[in-house]
Amino acid sequence: MAEVQAKPMPVPDSISRPYWEGANQGEFRFQRCRTCGKAQFYSRYACVHCQSTELQWQVAEGLGRVASFSVIHRAPIAAFMADTPYVLALVDLDEGFRFMCNVLNCDPATVKIGMRVRVCYETRPGTEQKVPQVEPATS
Ligand SMILES: [Zn+2]
Repeated sequence: MAEVQAKPMPVPDSISRPYWEGANQGEFRFQRCRTCGKAQFYSRYACVHCQSTELQWQVAEGLGRVASFSVIHRAPIAAFMADTPYVLALVDLDEGFRFMCNVLNCDPATVKIGMRVRVCYETRPGTEQKVPQVEPATS
């Protein structure tokens, strides 16, 4: 019998480590440029808007809206088969950046473009690392 493949896990590096450490503390961290003031996600060495390296980490409130989504019925790898159907979404956070994630804790058929969501944290088996995702916001 084939060995069951685990879900991919993040490998924090010097640029992404503050993001992943924040997730483990329940903080959704992102970078904002000190030069042009724009937010960016995911973390990088330089600003994608103006190439400045004067970036600072900030903590997002964790609220946003679904910009687009797809309901996944065929798992890309065996580790995701038990999750199907599940939602892969692009979410626009209120702080001004886009985040790709899963929409958890709801029926995939209820997800809509424009739906309010909030960041939540998924713990995957066999690791201490939490993975930021979203769930419907009930406000
Ligand atoms: Zn900039």
